[in-house]
Amino acid sequence: MRYVSTRGQSPAVGFVDAVLAGLAPDGGLYVPETWPAFTREEIAGFAGRPYYEVAAAVMGAFAGDEIAPATLTEMCREAYATFKHAAVVPLVQLGPDTFMAELWHGPSLAFKDVAMQILARLYDHVLGQQNRVQTILCATSGDTGGAAVEAFRGRKHVKVIALFPEGRISEVQRRFMTTAADANVACVAVRGTFDDCQAIVKQAFQDQALRQAVDLSGVNSINFARIAAQAVYYFTSAVALGAPDRSVSFCVPSGNFGDAFAGFVASRMGLPIARIVVATNSNDILAHAFEDGRYARGQVHATMSPAMDIQSASNFERLYFEAVGRDAAVTAQAFEGFNTTGVIEVPADALSVMRQMFRGVGVGEDDTAKAIVATLNSSGQLIDPHTAVAVSALGRAADTPGPVVVLSTAHASKFPEDVAKVSGLMPQLPRGAADLADRPERFDRLAAETETIKAYVRTFAEA
Ligand SMILES: *Cc1c(COP(=O)(O)O)cnc(C)c1O
Repeated sequence: MRYVSTRGQSPAVGFVDAVLAGLAPDGGLYVPETWPAFTREEIAGFAGRPYYEVAAAVMGAFAGDEIAPATLTEMCREAYATFKHAAVVPLVQLGPDTFMAELWHGPSLAFKDVAMQILARLYDHVLGQQNRVQTILCATSGDTGGAAVEAFRGRKHVKVIALFPEGRISEVQRRFMTTAADANVACVAVRGTFDDCQAIVKQAFQDQALRQAVDLSGVNSINFARIAAQAVYYFTSAVALGAPDRSVSFCVPSGNFGDAFAGFVASRMGLPIARIVVATNSNDILAHAFEDGRYARGQVHATMSPAMDIQSASNFERLYFEAVGRDAAVTAQAFEGFNTTGVIEVPADALSVMRQMFRGVGVGEDDTAKAIVATLNSSGQLIDPHTAVAVSALGRAADTPGPVVVLSTAHASKFPEDVAKVSGLMPQLPRGAADLADRPERFDRLAAETETIKAYVRTFAEA
């Protein structure tokens, strides 16, 4: 399986190289040259199988012959053994035809663990074979950093630097990053927004000298292996609800559009998905893109769903590339232009391709709060604000064909103050994380300046 850049100016590479690179050298994102697909029988055969086996099948379709199947299966088995629920991603029922997939049973209590746990094992395996040590630079809107630190801490072949926007993530989110004592982990509070952090990471990647000096890599959702790992729970959830004989819809709380795009990938692989509702908070650039074709960056608003306080959804470039018939020149022009103008007008025919599957709904803070209370009253489930954005969005997308699976992306205890204020119930951290508030923290503070942060990366990587 070869991977091409959405901007068409980098040579095609294999799975391992695409994963280790993160972003393509031309600034584009890697996508497989063709989408691998399962037969109906193969999909039907996923029913009742352990999660890690389905993960190995899906990841294997993308890895091709670059990772031995037995090795990949073992990595998946270990990765998902870190989850505290035997189903790994269990489904609970919220209403007659509405279900919720709980993606947060991993070590950092957010869905980022699902991909990061397998990614860390892939990295350590491949880098060990190549006798390399890479430096992973990661911008986090709150949960990626914690998941990356949990997954990579103590690993021999990887150093991790997590950049987070100071004061814009919850204390529990921050502590999942900053309480790791391992020497291969560094955390940086950046005086800026998540979009600033993400832009700095992108600029660092475009500095070829730095990239080579510290063997830079990225594990943001621009990394294709994460997308592949996230396609897995679309399969397990849909199959549990009757796929491939029945099509299933999903409602996905979205920020960088990696999670929702993974649903598109699952559908390309043969899973019958009727509709994906892309739920955003008041940072609703993506919701607008699907509704009126205008993808226009605005001011970032701080909300109670901070992992989605994003105005520049990296993975939208992958969908755009598909929607314009994989025309890399058109994609490059649109997204290079976006860097300076902050606007993309999606061409009408590309928009109609997108709308075959996607709808967008933006949800304000009041409606998010109402969804937490309404879900508690109707089902007894105490949901986190990100999940609540999706529940509320689904209420407004009433024509969504059922059954519908809402992706629940974080445990409520990651956002205790907001959840308690709204619901009157204080969500408790699960047992394994109960002492989080007592663990000592360790992080640095830096200005949102690319050169400052590049110098920091160099020093840490070379130490
Ligand atoms: C990262 C995150 C999201 C958004 O996922 P994307 O793949 O960036 O769209 C939603 N909810 C939570 C809790 C997250 O951590």
